[in-house]
Amino acid sequence: MLTSQGKNQATLILIKPDGLKKSLTGNILTRLSETKLEIVGAKMVRVQRELAEEHYKHLKDKPFFEELIKYIQGELHGRRKVMALVYWGEDAIAKCRALAGATNPEEAEPTSIRGAYGRITTKGLYENVIHVSSTPEEAEREIKLWFKPDEIIVDLYPKKKIIIKEKEESIWA
Ligand code: UDP
Ligand code: MG
Repeated sequence: MLTSQGKNQATLILIKPDGLKKSLTGNILTRLSETKLEIVGAKMVRVQRELAEEHYKHLKDKPFFEELIKYIQGELHGRRKVMALVYWGEDAIAKCRALAGATNPEEAEPTSIRGAYGRITTKGLYENVIHVSSTPEEAEREIKLWFKPDEIIVDLYPKKKIIIKEKEESIWA
């Protein structure tokens, strides 16, 4: 018998600066654990403007773009960091998007993460606590933007080895 089993997918999750400032990290990770997906990458990131612009390039022409860049860089919350995670498993995108809820926190289902914790700022920006990739193509683009291959513990996408000479790197003193 044929079953409609979903495919294994990866999705990028960001706990945005408002999520960190509101001390929601544990809460969000607990909610996401309901999906039984696997976390295959996780780190704190200080978001440079270049990364912010590239991540949200599909919204470059929107009137709220500048505010959105400030938001994801943490400038609205005095916390210049986000937590980036890669979740992996069956139907990862749909499962995480469902838990996240609609983009507009006012329209999001009240028990969803965005419905429960998001808000609309006086400038009209949706501060919605987390980001979740919305398609496999978007997930691939975003995961490659936020993570290096060696920072993810499974092989998601083709990779290659290069030798970098005379690269400056910090090590423990
Ligand atoms: N956003 C906003 N107003 C809008 C649309 C989007 O403030 O009318 C912000 C919001 O923080 C959202 C982000 O821009 O999460 C990215 O927008 P997208 O349409 O990709 O929504 P998402 O995939 O995050 O649900
Ligand atoms: Mg999106």
